[in-house]
Amino acid sequence: MTLVTLNDILPKAKKEGYALGAFNYADLNTARGIVNAAEETNSSVVLQIAESHFPYPPLRIGGKFALDLAKHASVPVVVHLDHDTDIKTCIEALKMGFSSVMLDFSLKNIHENIVGTKKIVEFAHDLGASVEGEVEVMTHDGGDGKPDYSNLIDNYTTVSEAKKFYDQTGIDAMAISYGTVHGIYRDKPILNFNRLNEISHAVPVPLVVHGGSGLSDKEYRNSIKNGISKINYYSVMSFNVTKGLRKHLDSKKLNRYFYTMLTQRLLD
Ligand SMILES: [Zn+2]
Repeated sequence: MTLVTLNDILPKAKKEGYALGAFNYADLNTARGIVNAAEETNSSVVLQIAESHFPYPPLRIGGKFALDLAKHASVPVVVHLDHDTDIKTCIEALKMGFSSVMLDFSLKNIHENIVGTKKIVEFAHDLGASVEGEVEVMTHDGGDGKPDYSNLIDNYTTVSEAKKFYDQTGIDAMAISYGTVHGIYRDKPILNFNRLNEISHAVPVPLVVHGGSGLSDKEYRNSIKNGISKINYYSVMSFNVTKGLRKHLDSKKLNRYFYTMLTQRLLD
């Protein structure tokens, strides 16, 4: 059994100055690929599914599959519910055996965010699971045209917000906003490493970056140096898989293969 919680792996990463990769799966083969890659590199990994991906594998299927993968993996695996906006779903995942959840009440006011997150922390801790919380909204770069990242600066998490959020919820890991955005970057993000550093000294829990895919190696290293212990990575991985599939499907060779396969199926 190699199912672990964020508490089993992130504090060590924070102390030793590295970060854990947290990868989303929107289909079962991707989940398998993530665990295979973690085993090949002998790394602990956070295998996570987000509420927005439930139209593909629903929680009951995607969750059970991930828990089974974790059980048989040769490396420690956290099975984590990412960005869930419904307390009931968080509780369902925890009852199912998820070792970690993230309640995302960041769109609500900080008081509601604290009350909801605290409730989940109490429930999760009773079951021995961990909780990630988010303070301040992480923007999504999914619209048309170039976003103006300088507009985001006013929404970066402040030290006092982070401290208040930690003190009043008892969360195990905190996602903060310091300039990253979800989705594909269409411009260079403006990362505030000073703010990140100040927050990492003000709260004892490991910090999480969302919108981690698309940053440069230097930005990853600086993020880790200034307090990031978990890197959420999805969009670029997902786009690259789609691009690769398109390329293969466009190749004549593969079309012939599929044609043969399909006609054989029909004839069988
Ligand atoms: Zn996220």
